[in-house]
Amino acid sequence: MTLSVEQARDLVLARCRVLETEEVPLLEALGRVLAAEARSDIDVAPFDNSAMDGYAVRAADVAGASDDSPVTLAVISHIAAGEYSDVEVGPGQAARIMTGAPVPPGADAVIKVEETAADENGGSTGGTVKILREVVVGQNIRLRGEEVRAGDVVLASGETIGPAAVGLLASTGHAQVKVGRRPRVAVLSTGDELVDVAEVPGLGKIRNSNSYSISAQVIAAGAMPLRYPPVPDDLEATREAFRKAASEADFIVTSGGVSVGDFDYVGPVLEELGEMEFCKVAMRPGNPQTMGSIDGVPFFGLPGNPSSTFVGFEVFIRPALRYMQGHTRLDRPRQKAVLAHDVKKKRDRRYFLRALLERGEDGRYTVGVSGSQSSALLTAAHKGNCLLVLPEGGGAFTAGSEVEVIRLDMEEGIA
Ligand code: AMP
Ligand code: MG
Repeated sequence: MTLSVEQARDLVLARCRVLETEEVPLLEALGRVLAAEARSDIDVAPFDNSAMDGYAVRAADVAGASDDSPVTLAVISHIAAGEYSDVEVGPGQAARIMTGAPVPPGADAVIKVEETAADENGGSTGGTVKILREVVVGQNIRLRGEEVRAGDVVLASGETIGPAAVGLLASTGHAQVKVGRRPRVAVLSTGDELVDVAEVPGLGKIRNSNSYSISAQVIAAGAMPLRYPPVPDDLEATREAFRKAASEADFIVTSGGVSVGDFDYVGPVLEELGEMEFCKVAMRPGNPQTMGSIDGVPFFGLPGNPSSTFVGFEVFIRPALRYMQGHTRLDRPRQKAVLAHDVKKKRDRRYFLRALLERGEDGRYTVGVSGSQSSALLTAAHKGNCLLVLPEGGGAFTAGSEVEVIRLDMEEGIA
């Protein structure tokens, strides 16, 4: 039975589980899903501090100050970032203060240095400074606890850790972070024709490029590839390779061997060792997508043609690997665009064309294919930045009509 893309995707996700969690050093948490709420051990900022290089003053002292009627204050201290001064700023006094330095007692505002004129001592302790502007209480002071208070939740469980979150976790004392484990993904290519990249293929042979492109997609999905040697087109060798992969990996991806060739053993061996869920999806490229599990380990058999492999991974495996890591957003952003040229398509299959989305000077998005759509060729996927989705049903899609694209240049999010 041929499934729709949505039916197939649901069945893939149903065979996957969210993996257990692990503690990792903070920087290794980038891009991963936080598995426990993170609270702050301190107030951030830890103390009231200056937002400017300038002078800490009492706002009431400088009321009405201007270029024409400056207010002269005595400079009683000099506070750099990293220092702390408990010398109180009294009436008629100011403290020279740098950005990030703690506001001294008595002061209730900071006036920036550009709005002052220091005496010949350059504003150091013992000299004077002319204040040329008035300020309101609290001006240019960043308050203690403005970002977060001690004990408050900084990041909730389930949030994705981006660079800003790494900064928040750092400022709140999280050197180690609990995150969803990365799935170990067995990458198996089948085919007697395959030789390694380092070799020049002999007659009838090709380089095993899928092993690398799939592994790269695994890494891009946040998971860890386990690259296995190519599996010959042989029943016993296929069994052995699948058994080994099922004992070592959290997810198995294969390429090739899923069509109706005389040596396509992936489907039969999957049925023998485990269960097959489906073997055909109404899509192009890559109609023979094969899914099931062996010993509870999800198994996905991609077709061998490189761009079928590429699209099948993107549509089915990437969401599954993200799900296993605890992500809840599993869809890349989609958007509408104007089709740049006519496209003919067959009925009953959804098309995922490798395409380039561009934004014109008028702000309108147009999309067109980024190269030959032969499933044997990968260049269009490299040159493109999106998948142009044409729905099931026949007919001609004409230039100027509105179509939908999946952005491959953006991470899964809310758009
Ligand atoms: P198959 O699905 O095994 O019939 O393979 C379909 C096509 O994909 C054939 O032209 C294969 O040579 C090609 N192919 C299969 N495996 C790979 C691979 N690992 N790297 C590059 N091309 C492959
Ligand atoms: Mg083959």
